Amino acid sequence: MSEKRTIYLDYAASTPTDPAVVETMLPYFTEIYGNASGSHQQARASARAIDNARQQIADILGCSPKEIVFTACGTESDNLAIRGVAWVQKQAGKGNHLITTPIEHHAVDHTFNQLCQNFGFEQTMVPVDRYGVVNPADIEAAIRPETVLISVMYANNEVGSLQPIAEIGALAREHGIAFHTDAVQAAGYESLVVDELNVDLLAISGHKIYAPKGSGILYVRKNTPLLPSFTGGGHENNRRPGTENVPYIVGIAKAMELVAAKRNAENLRQAALRDKLIAGVLARIPDSHLTGHPTERLPNNASFVFAGAEADAILMHLDLAGIQAASGSACTTGMPEPSHVLTAMGIPHDLGLGALRLSLGRYTTEADIETVLEVLPGVIEKIRTLNPVYELAV
Ligand code: PLP
Repeated sequence: MSEKRTIYLDYAASTPTDPAVVETMLPYFTEIYGNASGSHQQARASARAIDNARQQIADILGCSPKEIVFTACGTESDNLAIRGVAWVQKQAGKGNHLITTPIEHHAVDHTFNQLCQNFGFEQTMVPVDRYGVVNPADIEAAIRPETVLISVMYANNEVGSLQPIAEIGALAREHGIAFHTDAVQAAGYESLVVDELNVDLLAISGHKIYAPKGSGILYVRKNTPLLPSFTGGGHENNRRPGTENVPYIVGIAKAMELVAAKRNAENLRQAALRDKLIAGVLARIPDSHLTGHPTERLPNNASFVFAGAEADAILMHLDLAGIQAASGSACTTGMPEPSHVLTAMGIPHDLGLGALRLSLGRYTTEADIETVLEVLPGVIEKIRTLNPVYELAV
């Protein structure tokens, strides 16, 4: 019996680990397994592997290896950055005001909420426009004497819009305020040169860039005050205690190297497929809308809303047809409300219920896109036929 071919268009949720990454990691499970804190040969081999990985990543970010902290995921990197800076600055009497946007991933916005609800901070949410983009002038207007941290994501995980990070970073620097960016979605596609981006803290997750789930990086600019969230040994320059996960550290470094090597060609290839997908969907499906910025968006993100068709139904029908997609961020799938991102962009409630995110990756082919363009119009039509309240807006 031949197995039905499936089409994976959920790379923004997670990517397969690249076979070259797996190969790089393998010896560090069984052959080089020493605790890097020790002094014997095994330990030194592990420590060397970590040093090399740190240097490889620092070369890509254009920073010192001392500024790289290995973590266990993007969520941890965001938490450590935000809480670490906020706590230290408040304790030093610098202030308790934080600035962010309403379209951040929960790893950021729930951390901000906790700081406000439990630790005496105040936050200003700077609005985004209908494309999900923040205006740097609005960030500047929100700055107060007691502002200690600004956090704006590099690229949005649901709609793919890119933010003017370098401009916001320049403003933050002018005002002497630490600037954090969640670069989890951007890391596979955009420049990560920290001095060009003017960032002080930058979070990366391994499983969005073809490294394993449970690997992460936090860049912390030299002299940025940071209170560790964990307490324990002096690992990672006293910023993140815990015996280093050597296989995952060498794996994420290899993944970063592969991304950097493939980026130019892959961005062009995926953007061309994405554009074909967007144009095809908008042309073939009435009452469909692209969400996010039309041009300033990740090369792999095609996200839409469809009137009269609920996200869960769309995903179920697509899955039955062998097409794997998402309705927004993986974390909010299953919730009957429109996502906080679409709401912040001013998308009407009912339209926001019909969200679909198709996210492309290294293994997406033209044939995949053609199949989606054949299948999706019928899926939407079928759902709408069964929806008694849907009337096509003409
Ligand atoms: N930030 C963004 C923008 C994300 O898309 C995600 C994952 O979906 C995260 C943070 C969390 O990363 P991780 O899954 O590694 O914890």
